[in-house]
Amino acid sequence: MNDVALDYILENFKVKDEYLVSVHNNNEYNKVIVDYYKKLSNEIFISSSKIPSLKACNKFWLIEQYDHLQVKDFISTNLCKDKFCNNCKKVRQASRMSRFIPQIEPYRNKLFHIVLTIPNIKSDDLKYTVEKMARSFKLFVECIREKSDKRSFLDFKKYGFKGAIRSLEITFKKNEYHPHYHCAFVFENLDLEGEGRSIENPYSHSFSNGERLFTEFEIKIQKLWYLIMNNIRITQENFENLNLGYSCTCDKFRDDDYAEMFKYMTKETDETSNILTYDHFKTLYKSTYHLRQLQGYGCFYQIIKEDLDDEVDKMYQDIRFELLKYDCRPILTLDRPFDLLNQNDYIIISRKKIFDYLKK
Ligand SMILES: [Zn+2]
Repeated sequence: MNDVALDYILENFKVKDEYLVSVHNNNEYNKVIVDYYKKLSNEIFISSSKIPSLKACNKFWLIEQYDHLQVKDFISTNLCKDKFCNNCKKVRQASRMSRFIPQIEPYRNKLFHIVLTIPNIKSDDLKYTVEKMARSFKLFVECIREKSDKRSFLDFKKYGFKGAIRSLEITFKKNEYHPHYHCAFVFENLDLEGEGRSIENPYSHSFSNGERLFTEFEIKIQKLWYLIMNNIRITQENFENLNLGYSCTCDKFRDDDYAEMFKYMTKETDETSNILTYDHFKTLYKSTYHLRQLQGYGCFYQIIKEDLDDEVDKMYQDIRFELLKYDCRPILTLDRPFDLLNQNDYIIISRKKIFDYLKK
């Protein structure tokens, strides 16, 4: 993008008021999390920088102010990177999406969204369960790859597994937690339409699945996930004798599934939109401490580790050069996002908007 026009920049990279309001709301919400951390620090060790950095997160924006143009260009902000911080969750999701989507897209025709669930559990079991799920998923992939001939009765080889990404999400309601995986799987030869949806079981009528019939492939992954999570040996006999596995689904991958895959593992609200309580916070903090949310396998093994793309930076350079043509001496200022809302004489632009633009 050379010689990008000023009008174009102001139109496409303008920060909307809604965004400033949402940052303000995030910072208000973070006060609750700060209180929770204070309370938690009476029970377990919390790093001394935790609370100050959460308090300061996204509080001030470093701005380059072009007085002549009446433009304020967002340069940077301090982010705390805490997993419960509402600012950082959204930044992380956007940055993951801009990094990973371009690398996953080449597989898009062969990509499937698989959701693996287990029944709800109590808070005391969450830590143990999410760790168990991580180990189980590794075995799940080994079975699908059909590395060992002992499991050829599963007949997974024909689907042509190439790779997978798993992403943990934990939703909660009262004292019940619902950890589950959103996964992207690449199969060379999985033909869901060809298999046809003809199998009905109790999961065919549920709140999360709606009304659906299952394919033979889905029934197989339901049973396999159940056997592995319950430490039952994966033999032909055990597989055939099992009437009902866990609720799992497989669909062609849709655009919306990316947001689902790359959002942060916990939400700020429960399943009925109430803000998380101190007990939720404590349970989630203890259970997800040092836990990897994302893991890649096969053709995605390296992708999940790769670093920031240059495309955003490259585009930002072009934008900056264009602004400097009009005003070569921008002033650096520190502004609070909320205060920016009330001053209408400047247009605020941000390179964060380039993420949205590139996605389009
Ligand atoms: Zn933060």
